Amino acid sequence: MSDNNYEVIIIGGGPAGYSAGIYATRAMLKTLLIESCTVLSQLMLTDLIENYPGFPGNIKGYELIENLKKQARYFGLEIKEGFVEYIECINATDRKWRVVTQNKASYTAYSIIAASGAKAKMLGVKGEKELRGKGVSYCAVCDGAFFRNKTVAVVGGGDTSIQEALFLTRYASKVNVVHRRNRLRAEQFLQEQAFKNDKIEFIWDSIVQEIEGTDTVENIKLKNLKKDSVTDFNCDGVFIFVGFTPNTEYVRRIVKTDDTGWIITDGKMNTNVSGIFAAGDLRSNTYRQIATAVGDGVTAALSCEKYISRMRGNEYV
Ligand SMILES: Cc1cc2nc3c(=O)[nH]c(=O)nc-3n(C[C@H](O)[C@H](O)[C@H](O)COP(=O)(O)OP(=O)(O)OC[C@H]3O[C@@H](n4cnc5c(N)ncnc54)[C@H](O)[C@@H]3O)c2cc1C
Repeated sequence: MSDNNYEVIIIGGGPAGYSAGIYATRAMLKTLLIESCTVLSQLMLTDLIENYPGFPGNIKGYELIENLKKQARYFGLEIKEGFVEYIECINATDRKWRVVTQNKASYTAYSIIAASGAKAKMLGVKGEKELRGKGVSYCAVCDGAFFRNKTVAVVGGGDTSIQEALFLTRYASKVNVVHRRNRLRAEQFLQEQAFKNDKIEFIWDSIVQEIEGTDTVENIKLKNLKKDSVTDFNCDGVFIFVGFTPNTEYVRRIVKTDDTGWIITDGKMNTNVSGIFAAGDLRSNTYRQIATAVGDGVTAALSCEKYISRMRGNEYV
């Protein structure tokens, strides 16, 4: 097998990808993992993880990723940086796939594990694009420290937004959670922590209509959905957590996805195309947690091992 030919290529270096990498390399499959440094693993955007089993207290997101990477490297996983642009079938009989990255590097494999996760959705309001990086952020861990003693708004009412609001209270003097409903979707434990934090206030039944500012964010226009009124709210930053969209552009024309691009798999992480597996947050209709991504990665690698064994003609059953 030449340098650019592998048995398995894993796309994505998050918990799903690295877990798949550990199992695939331990199964003695020649495995490459490709990860992009432009779209970070969501784990890198997470400060403290308190709910990943086996770590009483907590563990930092980047530490967990470093541990996974170290463990995978120990078993011989090859890791390359690159943003995968597309994959294509180059030999239908042998079922061989080519993976091509944005900088035109090309690798081939008999099997692919798509584990490229998801990224934050934009609100799509006026001023959002223009002020991105100038007060508009999608990552409190990355940008929180710029808002020391400032007032920020956090948009969204789910787990991620409340977790991020709590994180921002380390820096900001006031954190205002803007939510379109009059109650949160976040898990009960997070809700309780948020409600008892003096720095957090809630703006219910409201959506952000526009983000305003010259060089940095200065104001947001809030529409109250119940009163149908619009008010100005002065703040220095807006952190947006209104859901996610899957990083599946490179594979959408090949495997079956739902209407919004999340990949459909069975319980063994098979997609509708034999030899292509999907694991982690990019799957349709799944829970999106570190522990579930790890489980998916392991399952995908085990299924992939069986697939490759069948190709080699030495499957144990
Ligand atoms: C702010 C925040 C806080 C969170 N807190 C928690 C928590 O406390 N507990 C918990 O269980 N979960 C938490 N989550 C969710 C958890 O981080 C995800 O469920 C988990 O990271 C999903 O893992 P994944 O491997 O599927 O994808 P990701 O971690 O998103 O990794 C995707 C990988 O794919 C790569 N990639 C993407 N596109 C391409 C491409 N085209 N080519 C090559 N590589 C590509 C990226 O570089 C990355 O390496 C949090 C998420 C966020 C955003």
